[in-house]
Amino acid sequence: MISGHESRLRAETLHPGVQARTRTTFLKNMAFHFEIIKKDSFSQARLGRVETDHGSFTTPVFLPVGTQGAVKSLTPEELVEIGVEAILGNTYHLYLRPGHETIERLGGLHNFIHWERPILTDSGGFQIFSLGSLRKISEEGVTFQSHLDGSPHFLTPEKVMEIQRVLGSDIAMVLDECVPYPSSYEYVKVSMERTSRWAKRCLEVRREDDPALFAIVQGGIYRDLREKSVQTLVKMGFQGYAIGGLSVGEPKSMMSDVLEWITPLLPENTPRYLMGVGTPEDIINAVMLGVDFFDCVLPTRNARNGTLFTSSGKISIKQAQYAEDRSPLDKTCACYTCRHYSRAYLRHLYLSKEILSSRLNTIHNLFYYITLLVKIKEAIQEGRLLDFYKSHTSPHGLETEFPAHVQSN
Ligand SMILES: [Zn+2]
Repeated sequence: MISGHESRLRAETLHPGVQARTRTTFLKNMAFHFEIIKKDSFSQARLGRVETDHGSFTTPVFLPVGTQGAVKSLTPEELVEIGVEAILGNTYHLYLRPGHETIERLGGLHNFIHWERPILTDSGGFQIFSLGSLRKISEEGVTFQSHLDGSPHFLTPEKVMEIQRVLGSDIAMVLDECVPYPSSYEYVKVSMERTSRWAKRCLEVRREDDPALFAIVQGGIYRDLREKSVQTLVKMGFQGYAIGGLSVGEPKSMMSDVLEWITPLLPENTPRYLMGVGTPEDIINAVMLGVDFFDCVLPTRNARNGTLFTSSGKISIKQAQYAEDRSPLDKTCACYTCRHYSRAYLRHLYLSKEILSSRLNTIHNLFYYITLLVKIKEAIQEGRLLDFYKSHTSPHGLETEFPAHVQSN
């Protein structure tokens, strides 16, 4: 067990790679480069490095979700202090409010939200398809009603590219259809094939100065459809490949199955991104199956709900047993919250519905996730990922519960 201080030092030494470059408001010739630094001998895990116009970061990476241009309750400076290297922005939400053209006039998303490090924007597919009866799909695109005011909108693959271009994202995603679980084979097949055609249309309108473009593999829980999706998209040639349509309520073991089917078919020298995942245990498992990027609302949403990740499992801070508990949330954690506050105080803040409760809890949960990724990277670097995996899958270790719809922030 490493001390909190050691943990902090390690986190600091593993994060010096992010250096925001001098930039003007609108960058041309967007740079994107991915290289594998080291491969694990006992699994498919890879230690990698991504370079963008807004700095570099090492992978496997966890991207906190900044749905509406903010990682809920924290400032960019606090994210940097936690060790966050890149964040996710949500195209759907930013398009509806304040509008991508407004953000463009205000200097682009990085300037608007005062975040100088890389930003990955999702395409909005997941949110649009979560609208259920409020949306209608055609070959051309998807018509939907805003969840804010009911106003009608029509998004096409080309429009989604334009929005992400205007936002100034570093990594953009193609428009895809995220099918619910369970769905019939026939429906998933039709949808996956359309998602592939939409990916091609995104590629066709791509400009030289556009963000890096990642395709999204779909195909539900059907092996042949997943494989067909990968083969079709890989032939088109993208700068990265995301695995979508998981963590939507399917049995937990299915995620490993899908990753085992897909990753051997993906080009080795491009990043793999598992969208909307997941628990700490999900992340370790997926890293071992060759995944490089993750995003999830779990640490931030759980924090606001008073559920906190610790080295000895999840705790619910509202429980009476913490009423006079002077100890920090996690004695091994070096985050700001654990360095200064007791469980008793955090419980009081939560029960009193103080805004500070969300802030302190989010700082801790995000630090927990970022530090987890730092430890994973160290373990790959030092050739001991398998031992690390075993030590984190004990009954009292990381949580195993599978969250449904964790991406729908
Ligand atoms: Zn902490």
